[in-house]
Amino acid sequence: MSSIQQNIEQITSEILSAQQKCGRAQESVQLLAVSKTKPNQAILEAAQAGQRAFGENYVQEGVDKIAYFSEHHSELAIEWHFIGPIQSNKTRPVAENFAWVHTIDRAKIAQRLSDQRPAEMPPLQVLIQVNTSGESSKSGIEEQQVFELAQLISSLPNLTLRGLMSIPANVPDYASQLNAFNQLADLKHRLSERFPELNLDTLSMGMSGDMEAAIEAGSTMVRIGTAIFGARDYSK
Ligand SMILES: *Cc1c(COP(=O)(O)O)cnc(C)c1O
Repeated sequence: MSSIQQNIEQITSEILSAQQKCGRAQESVQLLAVSKTKPNQAILEAAQAGQRAFGENYVQEGVDKIAYFSEHHSELAIEWHFIGPIQSNKTRPVAENFAWVHTIDRAKIAQRLSDQRPAEMPPLQVLIQVNTSGESSKSGIEEQQVFELAQLISSLPNLTLRGLMSIPANVPDYASQLNAFNQLADLKHRLSERFPELNLDTLSMGMSGDMEAAIEAGSTMVRIGTAIFGARDYSK
């Protein structure tokens, strides 16, 4: 077994035990393998270990990988998630290639993605990226703007709003991690109450360093890169 396959088994069992610890149902947390900067061979190994959903941060890199796998390994039926920042001049390749987008943070991006989604493809599954308090990154919108953006997305024909995503500040202590994730879970709860007809079912939160706290707070999708593929090398 390759080390990537071993890592996936390890993470899968960690997800299971985190779920059990806080009394959550089995299979209520999906693993998104974050493959940014990693070669097709690494993705292939993960996919051959049964991993289906992969996350990419850079548009051109993601589009190249999607083209490669649809040409050479369509049998793997990989589901591609865009999880990086989106510039409005890059929405078209995202709309034309990905199944999910986790990082919608303004009306213009939502509008363009819907307009540019090809008619023969299923609606793009989208999440609103929220900047919960204490967040170090500048990306994501403030809580007060989430309701208005959700309203707009729900009116767009080629987008399906599934929930919320956040990238909290990278802090080592469990209580602070849990606090940040609970904020997002609480916001999702209020959003679901406001828009019950949308059936929001997704909370994309938790990475290699804070997965357990995210699961305790109600994450339904953890985005794991390093713990599966090893450290990233940005020098190349
Ligand atoms: C890179 C990245 C991840 C994965 O982070 P790891 O710490 O390597 O698990 C998750 N989410 C987003 C948005 C990322 O950019």
